Amino acid sequence: MNTANRDPLTFLSGSGWVERPTELEPSLIGDVECDVAVVGGGLGGMAAALRLAELGQDVVLVEADLCGWGASARNAGYITPTLGSDPRILNRFYGDRVRGLYKFAGHSVDFTEKLISRHGIDCGYRQTGNIAAAPTAAAFRRMAAHTKSGRRSVVGDAAQLGIPPAFPGGLHINVGGILNPGQFALGVREVVRASGVRVFERSPVTSVTDSGDRVRMELPGGRIRARRAILTTNAFTGELPITPRSLSTPVWVTAVETEPVSDAEMDAAGWTSRTPMTTNHFVMQSFRPTDRGTIVFTTRSLQTARRPRADRMPDQAVVDDLVRGFRERFPTLTDVAPARAWGGWIGLTPSNMAVVGQLTPRVHYSMACNGHGLPQAPYLGTLLADHLVDQDMHEDLAAVWRRSRRFAPGIVNPVTLRLGWLADRFGDRVDRLRR
Ligand SMILES: Cc1cc2nc3c(=O)[nH]c(=O)nc-3n(C[C@H](O)[C@H](O)[C@H](O)COP(=O)(O)OP(=O)(O)OC[C@H]3O[C@@H](n4cnc5c(N)ncnc54)[C@H](O)[C@@H]3O)c2cc1C
Repeated sequence: MNTANRDPLTFLSGSGWVERPTELEPSLIGDVECDVAVVGGGLGGMAAALRLAELGQDVVLVEADLCGWGASARNAGYITPTLGSDPRILNRFYGDRVRGLYKFAGHSVDFTEKLISRHGIDCGYRQTGNIAAAPTAAAFRRMAAHTKSGRRSVVGDAAQLGIPPAFPGGLHINVGGILNPGQFALGVREVVRASGVRVFERSPVTSVTDSGDRVRMELPGGRIRARRAILTTNAFTGELPITPRSLSTPVWVTAVETEPVSDAEMDAAGWTSRTPMTTNHFVMQSFRPTDRGTIVFTTRSLQTARRPRADRMPDQAVVDDLVRGFRERFPTLTDVAPARAWGGWIGLTPSNMAVVGQLTPRVHYSMACNGHGLPQAPYLGTLLADHLVDQDMHEDLAAVWRRSRRFAPGIVNPVTLRLGWLADRFGDRVDRLRR
């Protein structure tokens, strides 16, 4: 690879997957009435609005910026049937509810795959499955001891799975795959724009009140009066006074994309399968190939803030740390430069699980967060829309339904995130010394 005259690393304020559309829906001006108002136009809100319109409701979807331009267009693009917590922790705290949670996660993948094919969304979806890569030999031994290979999952060492030898091995779960999340989110946006949903962009809702007979919302340019409302505002949920403050913690996740890597270089790195990987560190790392011949890697160093800022840019120090992690696992690609970096906000719930619930008789919320919302957010939005109209509770909705309106304070803060990062780096280092 010619390393001369390389372009410098570009920091992006939006998604690195697609260009930002220039054609926006109008902002909300004046007074608007509707059956259901959906606040937040990510995958969760767009899917909810779409379903409500299909069910004959008069729906308004209001988005602070541009539909799909939040986490939905910026994520790593993994469609997985996994949950946000370690299975041992889940078994301990959720007991007999765990089976239902896994069913919900698996059905989310089926739902999202069907959403893509039903609307013919061109987003480069590939059913590769995903490899949970063990970061250390000890982690791989534990994985191999506790997991049986089956029809849809295979435990293997690096050579068997075709992943770089800097990983001792992993578990290939052959369900789901990867896509271009920017194309997917904007594809869903086009479907919503072509539906009967009234969409308002650059329309931030500043207050939501349930006045008994109606939900009233205030926006800079006007007001909404709705019979019901759904809040799908993800990391920004705590910004609305109606939501309990500890419902979620805003967490900023950074992504980096390399310059193009040739097939020969990928093979020499040992990534012969090209199957996307996530590590099972405390704070995972992800590595995936893209259709443009690059590698995108994410997470590893998470950051939190009291208030999420929509215009936040990635930090140089975090990008440098992500690049270090990439170099450790792909030592033959030291000449491959990082080309672009971007980031996005997710809402982390205290349970690390998606939650849906009811705040007042007329206001519901859905938060499919914790890094698994690409398939879960649209599925939950759709299930919640069904529930609002026919009152039935699908068993997958029941699995994540939150009855209480009180939330334990989350344990995610700058100190715990740093401790997790230190524990991960310590484990990586000890493992490297032992090999
Ligand atoms: C870098 C990164 C990597 C990730 N990787 C993966 C992955 O590989 N797989 C996976 O499953 N998940 C992943 N995730 C998580 C996933 O992207 C999210 O869980 C999912 O997109 C959540 O969708 P959503 O609709 O709930 O939220 P969002 O897409 O965040 O949408 C919320 C919307 O609400 C709007 N909004 C907020 N407040 C207001 C208001 N007051 N008024 C009007 N609108 C408002 C925002 O502007 C935003 O558009 C990742 C996230 C990030 C950031």
